[in-house]
Amino acid sequence: DRIVVQRPTRIEVDLDRLAGNLRAIRDHVRVPVMGIVKANAYGHGLVPVARHLVRSGVDQLGVAFLEEGIALRRAGIRVPILVLGGIFGPQIAEFIDHDLEITVSSLDKLRQVEAAAEAKGRKAVAHLKIDTGMERVGVHSYSCAAFIEAAVASRWCEIKGVYSHLACSDDPASPMTARQVERFAEACAHFDRLGAPMPLRHLANSGGVLHFPETWLDMVRPGILLYGVAPDPTARMTVPVAPVLSLKSQVVYFKVVKAGNTVSYGATWSSDHDCRVVTIPIGYGDGYSRALSSRGEVLIRGRRYPIVGRVCMDQFMVNIERDTAYNEDEVVLIGEQGGERISVDSVAATIGTIAYEVLTGLNERIPRLYI
Ligand code: PLP
Repeated sequence: DRIVVQRPTRIEVDLDRLAGNLRAIRDHVRVPVMGIVKANAYGHGLVPVARHLVRSGVDQLGVAFLEEGIALRRAGIRVPILVLGGIFGPQIAEFIDHDLEITVSSLDKLRQVEAAAEAKGRKAVAHLKIDTGMERVGVHSYSCAAFIEAAVASRWCEIKGVYSHLACSDDPASPMTARQVERFAEACAHFDRLGAPMPLRHLANSGGVLHFPETWLDMVRPGILLYGVAPDPTARMTVPVAPVLSLKSQVVYFKVVKAGNTVSYGATWSSDHDCRVVTIPIGYGDGYSRALSSRGEVLIRGRRYPIVGRVCMDQFMVNIERDTAYNEDEVVLIGEQGGERISVDSVAATIGTIAYEVLTGLNERIPRLYI
């Protein structure tokens, strides 16, 4: 019962660009790369993106939740996978069952992981999470000595990594990153003090990769940069990456709206002259924000046109004035057409958010096409 012709709205994911971005990051940092594929691979599609990253030689993958890790294992992905989020006791056994690496972020959680591993008779693989300034999850760097000592002595936990997360790495001028690097080094020094082998140290998200070589250490954890988008729209792009995702649709309806007639819910928009208005079959029910009402833009026939009136759940309208467009003409909402481009950053700026939220908001109702 698969339909033969899908709705014309689609996300196109350029897998060659994805592989090229991984290569560009690797050439830049020259340390192993953990590709971050949480939140449906930043909206690009978890399993196909992960598969292609593996094919392209990524060293390891990172996800946010257990469920994402299990989805990857069920898809047959065999590379190491770290689950970055804080863990819940009842879920620990499933990490071990699915061979997922666990973020251990407190002494209490270490004890829970050890108990679950012992009950299974199988060692858990852990990365210790140190808080160096994010105040989210992790043992504070200034009080982690006992935690690291207990982890090093653990019989049921293999300590594969130790890591922290940067709060301000998208801003090259922020003094926060240097402070976090220093605190992280102080935490790692406990391994030397104990005469224990140093696990893999990792700290850099995309901002770290772009702006702070001192954060690269033994592995980097880029997310947004893999998808060809900067962590901050003003970032100097020291790594040559290209956007991977395009969001496209087609004109589904054409009409002339008479002067003074209003368009869409709330009757918020009208023109003082007759104009041609086309309807595009995608809306906030797909994750295309309602905040783009009368503010967003699209490309049709290589030209930029404004969204008029409110974005509906499944559709919105575009004013092409006196220009020409036909049913089934391609409409680009994010991406390139005829030399024009709408970046995910410009969509985010229009609605006062960041590219991350725009990308991860595009939901499963939109078919993904891998090209
Ligand atoms: N590492 C951790 C722990 C994260 O939470 C994230 C994402 O928020 C990343 C790495 C990747 O971040 P970015 O997409 O900014 O590269």
